[in-house]
Amino acid sequence: MIHAATDEVLEHLWYAVEENRQVHSLGDLGADIDDASFRSAVYELVADNAVDSSLQLSDTGTQRAKRIVRRHRLAEVLFFEAMGTGLDDAESSACEMEHMLSDVVVDRVCTFLGHPPVCPHGKRIPGGDCCRLYSKQIEPLVMRVIDLPVGAVASIAFIAPKTLARLEKLAAFGIVPGSEIRLVARKPSCVIAAGATSIALEDEIGREIYVRLR
Ligand SMILES: [Zn+2]
Ligand SMILES: [Zn+2]
Repeated sequence: MIHAATDEVLEHLWYAVEENRQVHSLGDLGADIDDASFRSAVYELVADNAVDSSLQLSDTGTQRAKRIVRRHRLAEVLFFEAMGTGLDDAESSACEMEHMLSDVVVDRVCTFLGHPPVCPHGKRIPGGDCCRLYSKQIEPLVMRVIDLPVGAVASIAFIAPKTLARLEKLAAFGIVPGSEIRLVARKPSCVIAAGATSIALEDEIGREIYVRLR
């Protein structure tokens, strides 16, 4: 990971500002961050005008740090809230994810999660463009099958069934993530077409299938 050390330094400088801690040297950022690779990361950041020689974030550095912290905390919410991993696992995975996700993907994750304001630790998640747009136009990325308008074509994003047997039954009809369905009728029961087959779903199951509109 080419930018990992610089990202890590920026992230910790953001935390220091957030917690009102003065930073005078790398050692102030935490014991694990004071080694050769981090010192060379600081030279790189100074050369990029992201920090000054006394380790204070510039405007550019603040913007970069904000994006890293945003990615980190959204990844924590994604793993912890949406996927149900433990907090420790969520945090270590978030540390890796923060270096990989593009801003576009991050905004989609944010939208998918409903623009959460805080991470599982209760720390503020810096907002993105998607959060600002959200206040004007509410456009969920995924919705439940039962909330689709009749006639709508959608692809299955994920299925969150109460039982494994139910998941297997749906799979037998070709209802798996990625497959395309059309809502044929909503009342008296929810009928979807998947390929050549039409299937009537109980509302309870329709609430467990999440789709993305085409
Ligand atoms: Zn957190
Ligand atoms: Zn957002």
